[in-house]
Amino acid sequence: MSDLKRVYNFNPGPGTLPLEVLQQAQAELLDFKGTGMSVMEISHRSKEFESVIQTAEADLRELLGIPANYKVMFLQGGAHLQFSMIPMNLRAAGASADYIVTGTWSKTAVKEAQKLGATHVSANTEADGFKGFPAKLDLDPKAAYLHFTSNETIHGVEYFTEPTPPAGVPLVCDASSDFISHPIDVSKYALIYAGAQKNAGPSGVCIVIERDDMIARTPANLPVMLDYKIMAESGSLHNTPPCFAIYMVGLVLQWAKKQGGLAAIEKTNKTKADLVYKAIDESGGFYRGHAKPEARSRMNIPFRLPSEELEATFASEAKKNDLIGLKGHHSVGGMRASLYNAMTVEGAQALVNFMKEFQKKNG
Ligand code: PMP
Repeated sequence: MSDLKRVYNFNPGPGTLPLEVLQQAQAELLDFKGTGMSVMEISHRSKEFESVIQTAEADLRELLGIPANYKVMFLQGGAHLQFSMIPMNLRAAGASADYIVTGTWSKTAVKEAQKLGATHVSANTEADGFKGFPAKLDLDPKAAYLHFTSNETIHGVEYFTEPTPPAGVPLVCDASSDFISHPIDVSKYALIYAGAQKNAGPSGVCIVIERDDMIARTPANLPVMLDYKIMAESGSLHNTPPCFAIYMVGLVLQWAKKQGGLAAIEKTNKTKADLVYKAIDESGGFYRGHAKPEARSRMNIPFRLPSEELEATFASEAKKNDLIGLKGHHSVGGMRASLYNAMTVEGAQALVNFMKEFQKKNG
């Protein structure tokens, strides 16, 4: 293993995965549990795969404390498809749904929902540059649901306390980029969805957790692949699921349990984010964070340098130091450090050391 090259990977997603998980997948790749086949080669209806998907679900239920009256689904089409499936399944004909817009991803969710029916924007922080939470929400007490994005991956704005919808209005959350990064109270939500490719595994699978009374809303005659009821009742096995991606999610969930669960993971995530924000705050304005302090994401930290030229140099020199994936999204510019669960404290410290050195040379 001494010649193994592993960099510190700050990519926003697909992002870094735990080394132990990759090594386990590697060790099992050619002969999965004595089958003489790869997990990619076995039937999705085999008892071996049944165990993979059922164990993944059980581990997720344990980690997040998912109550019994919720279904867990492993779906395809990414978080993007959920932007459409949610209104198709949860918003009855003629009803309207509320959306809180705090960044690119919630804005995209609204655009998709608008194509299919009535949508009301309860708040939109775009005029303020998507830097924080809305000052107030204009909530429709009759809304089919209230949708929010718990972590805006591009703008680095993260909710640690979920918004409160009016009584009886179900809360729906895009948790793609902070999924399983800290404990949440699932019972406050009607539906949570997350593309796996940040904290939970590789791309190709989107995890959906839906309360049973929401599943009962699914209208008749939706195309089968867009129908939560069919997907939930078949245990995500109506058609051939993304078997390998689900297997990888299962390994990541076992790893997460070994870390001590979500409270322990949250503690480490806070340590890592605090290191980077401290470096930003103590730089005397050389580094400037995007999000307002109260809305700062622990998962994605966008920041600027004094000039675009310095930002380009920062990215290329960081790369030479094996710090990868730090270039920000073009809509915000500058840099972005993504510190998902699998990023180590050592990795965050390496970034901070580099930031300090870079400022010394260029500040
Ligand atoms: N929501 C959030 C918060 C995201 O970060 C992303 C992807 N970066 C998406 C939705 C879209 O996910 P996908 O590419 O799986 O459709």
